[in-house]
Amino acid sequence: MIKINEHYKKLQASYLFSDIASRIADFQAANPETEIIRLGIGDATRALPPACIEAMHKAVDEMGRDDTFRGYGPEQGYEFLREKIAQHDYAARGTDISADEIFISDGAKCDTGNFQEILATNIRVAVPDPVYPVYVDTNVMAGRAGGFSGGKYENIIYMPSTKENNYVPQPPETGADLIYLCFPNNPTGATITKEELKRWVDYARDNKALILYDAAYEAFIRDKTIPRSIYEVEGAREVAVEFRSFSKTAGFTGTRCAFTVVPKDCRAFDETGGAAMLHSLWNRRHSTKFNGVAYPVQRAAEAIYTPEGQEQVKSIIAGYMENADIIRKQMEELGFSYAGGRHSPYIWVDAQTDSWELFDAVLKKAGVVCTPGAGFGPCGRRYIRLSAFNSRENVERAMQRIHKALQ
Ligand SMILES: *Cc1c(COP(=O)(O)O)cnc(C)c1O
Repeated sequence: MIKINEHYKKLQASYLFSDIASRIADFQAANPETEIIRLGIGDATRALPPACIEAMHKAVDEMGRDDTFRGYGPEQGYEFLREKIAQHDYAARGTDISADEIFISDGAKCDTGNFQEILATNIRVAVPDPVYPVYVDTNVMAGRAGGFSGGKYENIIYMPSTKENNYVPQPPETGADLIYLCFPNNPTGATITKEELKRWVDYARDNKALILYDAAYEAFIRDKTIPRSIYEVEGAREVAVEFRSFSKTAGFTGTRCAFTVVPKDCRAFDETGGAAMLHSLWNRRHSTKFNGVAYPVQRAAEAIYTPEGQEQVKSIIAGYMENADIIRKQMEELGFSYAGGRHSPYIWVDAQTDSWELFDAVLKKAGVVCTPGAGFGPCGRRYIRLSAFNSRENVERAMQRIHKALQ
């Protein structure tokens, strides 16, 4: 008899997006004239940088000729891209990561989701609350989460990110073995200081734990003193894996390219308590289950590191961040307190009421869509997330409408 993975039955259906969609549909049916503006988008909206398009075209042409055609590439990614990343994203910022510690992939979602596969089932997992749902659901699938009750999984440690702690959770008192951190954060937009991050690295070293650090939004950091990489903290190499993506950095959400850093001295432990190196385990997993990212896409990603590419990416991100500034200023004017929006495309607004209530008010009175914080975990129940991923014109119009509706 063929049987299913029973853990899948514990997954909670997410009604967030279908719920949002049906409320939008109802509103639109009742107000056919209103043009709805979406500030709930967790996806890039601006076109790929021209440097990437040019490189991709060239690579496609190479694939069309026998003498330059390429078949299977290295699963870990082409050297040309891994070298550029090591040089520009790490060495140039004073962090010591070598090209062969970088694994190119088709997404940080897949990597943050898959990485737990090489770890034991009987470990304690800690996630921030609110949380990017991938961290939780992949551990549910693997059987680490236990049953679901009262909005939480019994065996998962939820680390509250609240106004009181500046949306930066403290290390938990109950021992956590696997810790997910994400800065700049989705959904709160919060950042972490180097001192706070060091506390986490120290915790992982003292408790023989591992940190999975999601830095998908590092390119949005505008202050040089805020760490862009966990490896800026001394001692992090042994206890942290870092995930990055070209998705939000360069608009690759539909093109697909990301990478994961596993330092050669990053360790976990086997049954006998002996250290086991994660680099070789992840290399084995990655090369067994993954075929590598398409050659033209890796060439496109490489082009981000050319001088033109760097300029173009900077200007795209600056555009989103100007949107974020416009949203922040309007929230301030209306007297809302919020986090994020300074080094992140997300503004996490304290709704001062149930998140669906403010969602409905903003939709019905202003024709603007946001994301109710309740969809990201118990700590999000009184928040909404506004996104700067949209055109300047739409953001300005949305803020004018919200101003009129809520002032
Ligand atoms: C968008 C996002 C990613 C990037 O995912 P990709 O699979 O690389 O597109 C990773 N983590 C978080 C928290 C995100 O919001």
